[in-house]
Amino acid sequence: MLVSMDCIFCKIAAGEIPSKQLYSDEAVYAFADIDPKAPFHALIIPREHLTSLADAAEHHKAVLGHMHYTAAELARKHGLDNGYRVVINTGADGGQTVSHLHLHLLGGRLMAWPPG
Ligand code: 5GP
Ligand code: ZN
Repeated sequence: MLVSMDCIFCKIAAGEIPSKQLYSDEAVYAFADIDPKAPFHALIIPREHLTSLADAAEHHKAVLGHMHYTAAELARKHGLDNGYRVVINTGADGGQTVSHLHLHLLGGRLMAWPPG
């Protein structure tokens, strides 16, 4: 599996940088965002290093679904019964700041639309 030891999220998934684990399996890792933008804010990442959604290839289809299913399971587990938001910031215009694909799961408050 491709990992990058220059990548902060690869290091988090490998346990080399501490994080508050919310879920873990062979393909994905979920942890609390260090600077939460909502009462509940999880990040869900593939263990394989993938820079962004823009670089997803056909063989990533399974892990992309896996990440979304993990979001639904975490939302159920953490009582986000009134709804939540799933976000994948992608590239410069998308506001992506960490170059390892990550899905934000935000909940516990009313979300605004459109996003900024
Ligand atoms: P982006 O802006 O790329 O979509 O989101 C990156 C997210 O990663 C931000 O919400 C930021 O707070 C979070 N983040 C950045 N560095 C760390 C870290 O070292 N640990 C954790 N838990 N979250 C981080
Ligand atoms: Zn990485």
